[in-house]
Amino acid sequence: MATLYELLKLLSKLLIIRKREKNLPVRKGKQQHNGIETMYPRERRNQSMSIVYKRIDFTQALAGLIRYAYSIGYDIIIDWVLRNATAQKEMYDKGLSKCDGYNIKSRHQNGLAADLYIIEDGKISNDEEKYNKLHEYWEAVGGAPMVIFNDGRKDMGHFEWTY
Ligand SMILES: [Zn+2]
Repeated sequence: MATLYELLKLLSKLLIIRKREKNLPVRKGKQQHNGIETMYPRERRNQSMSIVYKRIDFTQALAGLIRYAYSIGYDIIIDWVLRNATAQKEMYDKGLSKCDGYNIKSRHQNGLAADLYIIEDGKISNDEEKYNKLHEYWEAVGGAPMVIFNDGRKDMGHFEWTY
């Protein structure tokens, strides 16, 4: 059982963290999105860089997206990130992806996409306006626009990197 003192200590620690977040020096190239500092990768590296560096940039941007989601009061969960060709083909066969995993590869197969869902009342939300807010942030930090399936359905929870 935590004492009142311990709780106060924890609370002040959290406040310090928040303060630090707000006072982070804005480095060159950093931007704000609705008052939240974005975590735009330090500099865009060239296209031929190895996949691991692309993944580092993607992961950094994703950390910013998650922090942004918390800041606007969303409860979120992460689902798929890295997926192999077999799993990709299964999704394609179910109409859940445009990529068959072999002829057309998904960014998930390189670990450059993440599925992130908003939870409301214990269930995955389909509130498009809410997802649009996340995608707005995502594009602001260099992510790709929302994927739309051929039949017009939107892959609202899918966030992929641009390079
Ligand atoms: Zn996805």
